[in-house]
Amino acid sequence: MRLTILGRSPASPNPGEACAGYLVDGGGARVLLDIGPGVVSQLVRQHHPDELDAIVVSHMHADHMLDLVTLRYVYPWRARPQEQRLRVVLPPGSADQLLDLARGVGNPRHFEDCFRLSEHDGSTAVVFGGLSLTPIATQHYIPCWGFRAEADGARLAYTADTAPGGGLDELADAADVLLSEATLRSLDEDAVAPEPRGHLLPAEAGAAARAGGSRRLVLTHLPANGDGEWARVQAAETFGADVDIAEPAQTYEVTAG
Ligand SMILES: [Zn+2]
Ligand SMILES: [Zn+2]
Repeated sequence: MRLTILGRSPASPNPGEACAGYLVDGGGARVLLDIGPGVVSQLVRQHHPDELDAIVVSHMHADHMLDLVTLRYVYPWRARPQEQRLRVVLPPGSADQLLDLARGVGNPRHFEDCFRLSEHDGSTAVVFGGLSLTPIATQHYIPCWGFRAEADGARLAYTADTAPGGGLDELADAADVLLSEATLRSLDEDAVAPEPRGHLLPAEAGAAARAGGSRRLVLTHLPANGDGEWARVQAAETFGADVDIAEPAQTYEVTAG
């Protein structure tokens, strides 16, 4: 299985970088996990969207899905035949939100004319050939699902956006690669109690990876000041081993341990 970083920015973009977008190739399938602002321009450097089996969206925050609007313009303006429409898998209950967004950009059929929209059910794996993606609910400000991607005996876990605990621990369990968000530079940037938290410090990502027995940790969705060394150092301390910072355009091999 291979993971390619198309964007690693948090909601506020790092200069010259896209927000969340991750290509997963495995089991004869290719899926794009999340499609935040700037991701389409990175995707089309290497692939036409028709080379994807599907796009899977973790949650409906703009930094994870807003470039669905842009992706529509890659296709001719007329409606595509049903069987040619690109599959887009959304979180449970969110298709109506996409319809609101379509109206907001001036065409209620903006998405339906060229995408096949569906929702996962929150727990059942979505399968594309030999690649399966199991949604795991995380603790975030709105409903959000990370994914455990499995193909060829290897396991890649993507945390999407998450606070410590809950689904994060399940995702970190025996992952060959844990692709974890590390959005916070300090806890002051997260919600304040009694509001529930929604993001991680790099050190918390490292601790979760260690507790779950993840073999490799790649940090993403982080404000990259320079090379992100600050985050790497913090996470390596709690993980107890070297940590990678997701590099735009870089590909990571995910092999079974
Ligand atoms: Zn979010
Ligand atoms: Zn986010």
